[in-house]
Amino acid sequence: MPTTPVIELRGVSRRYDSASDGPPALQDASLTVRAGEAVAILGPSGSGKSTLLNLIAGLDRPDAGTVTVDGVRVSGLGEAAAARFRRAKIGMVFQFFHLLDDLTVTDNVTLPAQLAGMARGTAHRRAAELLEALGIDRHARAHPGRLSGGERQRVAVARALMNRPPLLLADEPTGALDSASGNDVSALLRELHADGQTVVLVTHDEALAQACTTRTIHLADGRIAADTTNSLAEAAR
Ligand code: ADP
Ligand code: MG
Repeated sequence: MPTTPVIELRGVSRRYDSASDGPPALQDASLTVRAGEAVAILGPSGSGKSTLLNLIAGLDRPDAGTVTVDGVRVSGLGEAAAARFRRAKIGMVFQFFHLLDDLTVTDNVTLPAQLAGMARGTAHRRAAELLEALGIDRHARAHPGRLSGGERQRVAVARALMNRPPLLLADEPTGALDSASGNDVSALLRELHADGQTVVLVTHDEALAQACTTRTIHLADGRIAADTTNSLAEAAR
């Protein structure tokens, strides 16, 4: 049973300046995610999912409350320290991949290692291992623009895992994929969880949450409305 907290939110609120009337984007959110958990943040559009994810990734700061990730008080970091924190602690996967088409697949995947100062040879060996594990090693020298959506998302996952982050964040990672590729990415997230990776998946898709996470945090109007156990967790018992 995993015990170490990877994410701890305590009384976190965020209100955007441009939206001074109405409820805050996130209100008094408290939450603990432990090492090895795969958690979905589920809610309709506008419920505060991206706000929550940005606060966990140190891309934004709360107006109240604290955010701690792998022992780092993220909510107190300045911009440069937050960037270092992300490099060391967070792997991120997005709906639209955010790959650099001018670079080869390998160079996309090794980029986070380069930024972290890893030796080039070490980074290339790790990239080759990741591409092989994800079944896309034959595309190592291709440019991402030549690949299918599903293949591109695998490259994005390899890049996210490059620096062995304690936390993988995925924001609607199947949102731009056809259903077969979406199922592949869903299976991949499930495998990463089985290997012990802590995963937080942001989605509005309940079936996806059920397919690859063990716990769902339901957001509604900026509040945590429920925290439930998924069938994947039941099946593992
Ligand atoms: P979700 O990701 O669940 O769709 P968001 O976290 O993006 O929700 O948004 C939560 C609420 O905050 C929404 O009402 C949205 O319109 C508002 N919001 C999000 N980002 C901003 C911003 N930069 N400025 C003003 N309001 C914002
Ligand atoms: Mg969003």
